[in-house]
Amino acid sequence: MTTPVAAYAAPAAKAPLERTTIERREVGAYDVLIDIKFAGICHSDIHQVREGWGEAIFPMVPGHEIAGIVTEVGSAVTGFKAGDRVGVGCMVDSCRECENCKAGQEQYCVQGNVPTYNGVGRDGEPTYGGYSQKIVVDENYVVRIPDGLPLDTAAPLLCAGITLYSPLKRFGAGPGRKVAIVGLGGLGHMGVKIAHALGAEVTVLSQSLRKKDDGLKLGADHYYATSDPKTFEELAGTFDLIVSTVSAPLDLGAYLSLLKTHGTLANVGAPEEPVSLNLFSVIGGGKSLAGSMIGGIAETQEMLDFCAAHGIGAEIELIAASEINEAYERVLASDVRYRFVIDAATI
Ligand code: NAP
Ligand code: ZN
Ligand code: ZN
Repeated sequence: MTTPVAAYAAPAAKAPLERTTIERREVGAYDVLIDIKFAGICHSDIHQVREGWGEAIFPMVPGHEIAGIVTEVGSAVTGFKAGDRVGVGCMVDSCRECENCKAGQEQYCVQGNVPTYNGVGRDGEPTYGGYSQKIVVDENYVVRIPDGLPLDTAAPLLCAGITLYSPLKRFGAGPGRKVAIVGLGGLGHMGVKIAHALGAEVTVLSQSLRKKDDGLKLGADHYYATSDPKTFEELAGTFDLIVSTVSAPLDLGAYLSLLKTHGTLANVGAPEEPVSLNLFSVIGGGKSLAGSMIGGIAETQEMLDFCAAHGIGAEIELIAASEINEAYERVLASDVRYRFVIDAATI
């Protein structure tokens, strides 16, 4: 028996989100039923609602930054019990058998992971995300939110947090390393906090100096405006690692010129249009252009534990569900400090 659950959905591509009711599956033997308390708004929600990445599934209930409380567990569940504080990120299943799944890189499942929304579950049913009051998820794709982290500021860690933690760790952000974060939005501000906590010297590269005071408070050592051409002259050859979180196409060549020899530009932003690149930008200086998508389940747990140990949560603007459409416009205008989080009680 499915259960009706209140949710906010886009009925069609580009349509405003509105209140509706969806059905959640029965709690299976390996499932956890979660009472959603908070859901973050990621720019990826907007790309998908507007079909900016290609054809999508409607109605769409976005939301892959979910924090809540377990209210029921299936008979075979061993890791969770009612009352536990938990999170769900961008995926709710994967094949569990391929080399990537076995290596804890479920996000790169060879058969494709099952996205939390705008996807089809292994049962053939469409998936619906976190802009809803409850969700049923297999326990293997649920993580524990440590007691020290408030649920509202923890929600954005489930996507923005892990998306920055994973490449910062993989490419060695730490003491003695100069790291730049491009774009001070939802992902970018988590990047500043995490890179600083890892011990790196952190620079923000933002379009303007409008958010400079915030950036320095978040843990950045330096802050530059990319609209000022002098920035690119002054910082040429400076960084070991640059992580770009920008949601629009960028002049990658200009940012590659800011790397030291053998430096890496790790891109996590997912613009809707392709970018072009003169390959001499990577040949000269033996540089690397890399990509990264969220992180595996175990790594997501590691990130949450790291954030709890360092007292790191997102800077959020808590909104009611009725304000989602307005929040989308503000994200598109880079007018977010620094993550909108929906109070699920208002759905
Ligand atoms: P966001 O809050 O809108 O932040 C993006 C930031 O990029 C903005 O705050 C702005 O920072 C900068 N920016 C926006 N337009 C720009 C432009 N035309 N030129 C230069 N800079 C610009 O979005 P988000 O939620 O952090 O997500 C960022 C991107 O990452 C999205 O494309 C999203 O889909 C993608 N994403 C990828 C993954 C992954 O696994 N790889 C995971 C989550 C999200 P300033 O105002 O400081 O310039
Ligand atoms: Zn996201
Ligand atoms: Zn797999």
